Amino acid sequence: MTSVWKLCNKIVNKLMDRKDILYEKWSSPELCVVLGESGMCIEWLAKRGLIKNSRLCSVCGEPASLLECAQIIDGYRWECNLQECNFRKSIRSESFFDGRDLPLRTIIVVMHYWCEDLQNETVTQLGVSEEDSADICNVIREEFEKNQRRAGAIGGIDENFQPVIVEIGESYFFRGEHRQSQQPEGHWVFGGIERLENGAVGKRFLVAVPNCAADTLQDEILRHILPGSNIISDGWAAYGNIPHIANGIYTHSFMGAENNLVDPNNRELHTQNIEMMLMRAKRKMNRHVGSSRESFALHLQDYVFRSQIRPSRYLFESLLMVIVDKYTI
Ligand SMILES: [Zn+2]
Repeated sequence: MTSVWKLCNKIVNKLMDRKDILYEKWSSPELCVVLGESGMCIEWLAKRGLIKNSRLCSVCGEPASLLECAQIIDGYRWECNLQECNFRKSIRSESFFDGRDLPLRTIIVVMHYWCEDLQNETVTQLGVSEEDSADICNVIREEFEKNQRRAGAIGGIDENFQPVIVEIGESYFFRGEHRQSQQPEGHWVFGGIERLENGAVGKRFLVAVPNCAADTLQDEILRHILPGSNIISDGWAAYGNIPHIANGIYTHSFMGAENNLVDPNNRELHTQNIEMMLMRAKRKMNRHVGSSRESFALHLQDYVFRSQIRPSRYLFESLLMVIVDKYTI
C-alpha cells in the first residue's frame, strides 16, 4: 500500500479496538514485512493509536494535512494548508516515539525483540547500535514501572467482603558466583502476591529495598497492600508488627518455622506462591544483580510485568496497550 495522503487530514479511516490490538499476536517476520515501507509503518501505528491519526493547526485550528517530506526520518509530517500559518509538526510529536532518532520501524521491531527476550539480537540482526537498543529497552522498562504504579496496590477486600490473602516474602538477590565472595554485590527484594481461589494467583509486586528492617518493610506494605488484606508471611521478626500497622488495618498469619514453606498444622498457612515468585525472579534477574540500584529496580518491574501477562505470548501486544494508555492520542 503506497501513500495516498497528499492533502489528507487523516492517516487511516478507522482506529482499531483495544481488544483487537491485544489479541493480534505478531511475529517478528510478519512485523518486518508489514512495517516495510515508511507509509505502511505510519498507518500501522496510527491504526493502533500509537501516533496521532489527525492533527489541528495550532494557528488557525483547521485540520492539518499529512505531507511527504523527504528530508525527515519519517518521510512525512503534518502541515497546515495555509502557508501563512507556517504550521509543521512531526508525526511523532507527543507520542512514545517523540525525540527518538531511530526509524519508527526499527523502534517497533526492537520492542518486539525485547518482548521475545531477544534484545541482544537487535544489535546483530537489525544493525541497531548497542546504545540505541539499550535506550529503547530502558524506556520500555520505565513505561512498565509507571504502569505498575498506576495499577495500584494489591489485596484488600473481595466482592464477598472477605479479606484477600496476600503472601509476602523477602529475598537477597545475588550473583551465583559471588555467593562466597567477601563483598557480595546484590539487592534485597521484597514482594507480595494475591492468592485467589483454586490455587490461582492474582496481582503481585516486587520492589528492591535497601534492607529488610521492620520500618522499611512496613513502608512497603502500606504502599503496596490494601487495608483489609490478610497477610501471610514466614516468621521473620520484622513482620511481627503487621497487625498493629496503622492501628490494625491488616490481619496477619505467620508460620512458626521459618524453614517450612507449609505449616504442618494448617495447610492453608503457607507462602509457597511468593517463594516461587521470588525464586523465579532471582533466576531471571541473575544477569542484572550487579547493576546499579536504579537499573536493578527497573529490570525487576520489567520482570513483574512479564510474569503477570497471561498468556505470556501476548507480551508485545500488552506492551502496545501500555503505550496506548499512557500516550492518549
Ligand atoms: Zn493553519
